Amino acid sequence: MHETPTHFLNINYYLKKYLGKLPEPPLHPGTKQPIKPEDLEPIFAKELIKQEMTLEETVAIPEEILEMYEMFRPTPMVRAKRLEKFLQTPAHIYFKNESATISGSHKINTALAQAYYNKKEGVKTLITETGAGQWGSALSIACKFFGLKCLVFMVKVSYEQKPYRKIIMQTFGADVVASPSNKTLFGKSVLAKDPNNPGSLGIAISEALEIATQDQDTKYCLGSVLNHVLLHQTIIGQEAIRQMEIAGEYPDIVIGCVGGGSNFTGFATPFVIDKISGKKKDLRLIAVESTACPKMTKGDFRYDFGDTAQKTPLLKMETLGCDFIPPSIHAGGLRYHGNAPILSFLNQEGITEKIAFDQPAVFQAAIDFAQAEGIIPAPESAHAVKATIDEAIKCREQGIKKVIIFNLSGHGLLDLKGYEDFLQSR
Ligand SMILES: *Cc1c(COP(=O)(O)O)cnc(C)c1O
Repeated sequence: MHETPTHFLNINYYLKKYLGKLPEPPLHPGTKQPIKPEDLEPIFAKELIKQEMTLEETVAIPEEILEMYEMFRPTPMVRAKRLEKFLQTPAHIYFKNESATISGSHKINTALAQAYYNKKEGVKTLITETGAGQWGSALSIACKFFGLKCLVFMVKVSYEQKPYRKIIMQTFGADVVASPSNKTLFGKSVLAKDPNNPGSLGIAISEALEIATQDQDTKYCLGSVLNHVLLHQTIIGQEAIRQMEIAGEYPDIVIGCVGGGSNFTGFATPFVIDKISGKKKDLRLIAVESTACPKMTKGDFRYDFGDTAQKTPLLKMETLGCDFIPPSIHAGGLRYHGNAPILSFLNQEGITEKIAFDQPAVFQAAIDFAQAEGIIPAPESAHAVKATIDEAIKCREQGIKKVIIFNLSGHGLLDLKGYEDFLQSR
């Protein structure tokens, strides 16, 4: 009895089939040659490396992962009728509610899969970094469920300013360390230069990687960007396309926000396949980012590192440069310098469109959505809300009915500081 999909859907299979080409492969930082699976084995579980490179059409989801998904999946696909009425639009608006997962965002979908495969290969501890804390929270839950230890390097400013995410991670038994820390040589070197360094995702990744490569029982996990993460998130899109079938509609526009590209691409994948196969040629797919971190709309498309310390493989992506430090915004999950290679490729091929919004416009949309639908969106997800509202208003002005769907990647109940600042600024 599975209401949830039983397979992950591999977009690369379809890109090869219908376009005859693929995103360019990651390169070894030393040799500049395409990376080999062995190169990644000190860091990632073997099965995840296989999934990173596979050209199979689907990857079967193991029973143990499905059992966990069934605790909260399928997530609802909701017709936002009160929002339609508020906007007085003839458009039909639907949202896929990934805020209804156990961790409050889509990140748990890949966290459970990554924890499972690591456990199966005998790994004892998973290490990661977290900025705003959504990814660290999801991975702590997944590690607890599969009996793994979890160590999270949390960017020091967030550690100090966002105590509640830290408490969530600790509730699930994770060790949370403020980064830069004196647990690693790299952290020590940073602290020696500047004892008050506030930390960054780049530093936290370098610390996590340093520990992960020290022994075989410990591996590293990433919450976005990589192919296997986007693959796991296709569970969202597969449910969405079925739910739209049940609703008797097919979208004209598909929208999602972009930090590293995983929730949008996972949500959009089945629709991308319909578009590139010629079945739905006119479908529009809109990826939304923050003007504070505009890698899609202002970045270059080139090989770049995933971290500031330049230790990761080189990825071909839309990037602002691995040393880019975005200003502090409330949508912490969108503050990553690069975009997933797969989504960068889709953008470059003109299959997907990209747009950026600034923080005040996004919070106004978030509040309109909250007042209509009763859910406070994560500031990240509110970027998708803003794009949806703009498209729905165009429908009103042009007097045409379109079906618009977006992914509500998470709720904002732990991001109320952002709402407070916005309400006070009005
Ligand atoms: C992390 C996060 C994002 C951005 O990451 P993607 O990999 O682009 O999905 C978006 N929304 C929420 C709620 C997040 O936690």
